[in-house]
Amino acid sequence: MSEPALVPIPMEDLVSLCKRRGFIFPASEIYGGINGFWDYGPLGIELKNNIRDAWWNDMVRCPPIGPDGEPLSIVGLDSSIIQNPRVWEASGHVAGFNDPMVDCRESRARYRYDHLYVLQHKTKSELPLFAFLEGDPDYVAKKLKKQGRGAKLEEFDTLALADVDDSLRPRVIGPDAKEPGTLTEPRQFNLMFKTYVGAIQDEDSAAFLRPETAQGIFLNYKNVLDTSRVKIPFGIAQIGKAFRNEVTPRNYIFRSREFEQMEMEWFCAPEDARKWYEFWCNARKEWWKSIGLTEGNLKMRSHDQDELAHYAKEGAGTFDIEYRFPFTAPGYGELEGVAHRGNFDLTQHQTHSKTKLEYFEPETKARFVPHVIEPAAGLSRGVLAILSEAFTPDSDRPSGVYMKFHPRIAPIKAAIFPLVKKDGMPETAQKLYMDLRKKFPTQFDVKQTIGKRYARMDEAGTPFCFAIDDVTMKDQTVTVRHRDTPRVDVPERISLDKVARYVTDHIS
Ligand code: ATP
Repeated sequence: MSEPALVPIPMEDLVSLCKRRGFIFPASEIYGGINGFWDYGPLGIELKNNIRDAWWNDMVRCPPIGPDGEPLSIVGLDSSIIQNPRVWEASGHVAGFNDPMVDCRESRARYRYDHLYVLQHKTKSELPLFAFLEGDPDYVAKKLKKQGRGAKLEEFDTLALADVDDSLRPRVIGPDAKEPGTLTEPRQFNLMFKTYVGAIQDEDSAAFLRPETAQGIFLNYKNVLDTSRVKIPFGIAQIGKAFRNEVTPRNYIFRSREFEQMEMEWFCAPEDARKWYEFWCNARKEWWKSIGLTEGNLKMRSHDQDELAHYAKEGAGTFDIEYRFPFTAPGYGELEGVAHRGNFDLTQHQTHSKTKLEYFEPETKARFVPHVIEPAAGLSRGVLAILSEAFTPDSDRPSGVYMKFHPRIAPIKAAIFPLVKKDGMPETAQKLYMDLRKKFPTQFDVKQTIGKRYARMDEAGTPFCFAIDDVTMKDQTVTVRHRDTPRVDVPERISLDKVARYVTDHIS
């Protein structure tokens, strides 16, 4: 695997560009924000929709070719966010969708137990153990400076809080604490948002906002089977919002309380499940690469046995497709999970709803509850991975940075600039713009110097800019500026009537 020469980009620079250019804003900002919620601005929504549409196209409209050379069969679905609360009992979420949490008695902060690590000095046993949240290297450095009595980071071992011997727990200093021994034992905490359906608010009217889109698919498995002509193996795909009352939302949009998922449940015969599991692990990783993530920033990680979600125990396991986010580098964070769910979900719903969810195989006359392989990707996390990958510092440009989006998902595909506001240039440019805007997102900009206009498009990640200049007025050609390889010395020129074709060819 090729390792890119990657110096992690400073997260604050990415966040500031996203704010300045209108990709992402904090939700309710004028009221001081609300932790764990984000709004997508004009460029952000285009980027998110483009990633969403690419997934929908490549999974539902034109799914991959299977191992036997035939195209796969996958259909779409859009199910309700609120379902009968019994769904979440059957799915195991009411009992199992808990993260063990640790509270700090001193700072009142609450942390996910499996996200806490400690630094333990290799030799000086008199030093306390410093707890920190995974993916927070700056924090570790600051902490040691304050409380580490001159010890250097390399003199410490890092271990998960869960692995710290009970006798040493009283010596652990919490991430936001000054005194040792203020962290509580881990406790369970249900992550589902609760609401009430109808006028009366009591336990009978309680319902939950879905914590994942997957269950809506299982609930409609029989409807789809009875109404469309799918035969096993086939998939049902859904994109939509999911809500989790995360205790520690952090790292920008990486862990938020409202986010979007792109999930597909692949129903297959039990004996074929292993083959499909391997197929989907590979296909999903390749898909992320096809929209611009680089091999060296991606990692496949198999879940350890004790980490497996409640459903995966029966099946063969879960693979995480991980991405090297700026705040996890040199480590990685989960972008998508590909889970072998066995027949857990359908069997649970069959038992709880008393509705038969078996599949009847007409040729062999066999009846069985299908096994399921689930590639579950985060759309919001995908946006963050794509933004991180695209962010390319370049001190030779006025903007100092450009966003190197794959043209297929770039929010704006082309920009049209008349060099000056006279000599018929704005009119010619306007005419070209009126044609292009019907075909793909295009911007027309006459304001300020052409250098400033290029800088704006660099930060928006627009792959092509076309300038209308005095030569255009003579020979009907325009200059093409490529975002990644701008050449001012020998500008490429193409004819005005070829511009639309040129962009279409380069963005597909
Ligand atoms: P994590 O361990 O990071 O909490 P998970 O294993 O619980 O994630 P899944 O239930 O497998 O996540 O959900 C599938 C995908 O949904 C994840 O790979 C991730 O991309 C996305 N996702 C999950 N939780 C969040 C969240 N709080 N904010 C944004 N995306 C999320």
